[in-house]
Amino acid sequence: MTDYETVSADVDDEEEIPEDHPRYQDLLTRHRIERGVEKGITHLQGMHAEGRGSAFDYLLGEETIPSADEAERAAAAHLLLAERPVLSINGNVAALVPGEMVELADAVDADLEVNLFNRTPERIEAIADHLREHGAEEVKGLEADARIPNLDHQRAKVDADGIYAADVVVVPLEDGDRAEALEEMGKTEIVIDLNPLSRSPRVAEVPIVDNIIRAVPNVTAHARELADADEAELRAIVDSFDRENALRTAEERIRSGEL
Ligand code: ATP
Repeated sequence: MTDYETVSADVDDEEEIPEDHPRYQDLLTRHRIERGVEKGITHLQGMHAEGRGSAFDYLLGEETIPSADEAERAAAAHLLLAERPVLSINGNVAALVPGEMVELADAVDADLEVNLFNRTPERIEAIADHLREHGAEEVKGLEADARIPNLDHQRAKVDADGIYAADVVVVPLEDGDRAEALEEMGKTEIVIDLNPLSRSPRVAEVPIVDNIIRAVPNVTAHARELADADEAELRAIVDSFDRENALRTAEERIRSGEL
């Protein structure tokens, strides 16, 4: 019998998923994405992205590996050093970690910007409302008055005083084309993606190969711990981070890790 048969995939409330269930995080993630689709926050394609992520997480052992923790610490240092940090929110991010993204924005004084692959005014509004319900005061992405160069019209839309002007951007679960286009704009990109072979983490200055559910609270914890660090200390953390090693270690773990 698989674990999936021990808990209905169709629980009404996430409280019904027992925390000691061996696949608790996976069931919770799936449940939040389903609710996101029902609420009009998450596009149906987000379910496929979730399925891919879930497979990689299984192979990683569903834990934050040490190289991901280092990446999360480097991400916190980058965000604390940034002049204009922005956290990008898509439908899966909003469904999975709305409150956690608000907390991270608070800890590093960043803006939150809704940025969708399948952009409709209804979804943008639904996500902005959802973030406000989770404590966000200001949500960007509604103006969409600037364009990322070298991307088709819909996917290029960003706020002129948000992602367009940002120096450091956190782009979780991002599409490869947009991650590349942001990199070409010279932004420091922090990508959270469970697939180390995906284009987005491969163009990122800081690839975090971890489940967003674990990654975001851990970046926040590092940021809080580093809140009093001086610039030299933060720079040293940023400079000593080895992105190639982070990608290689995660790939090795996925290919050869013991389950
Ligand atoms: P590319 O970046 O090359 O376009 P893709 O088409 O596989 O790759 P998308 O569907 O655009 O990627 O984005 C989904 C990505 O997000 C996948 O790489 C998937 O592994 C990752 N992902 C899905 N759920 C999570 C999660 N909970 N935490 C972290 N990453 C996740």
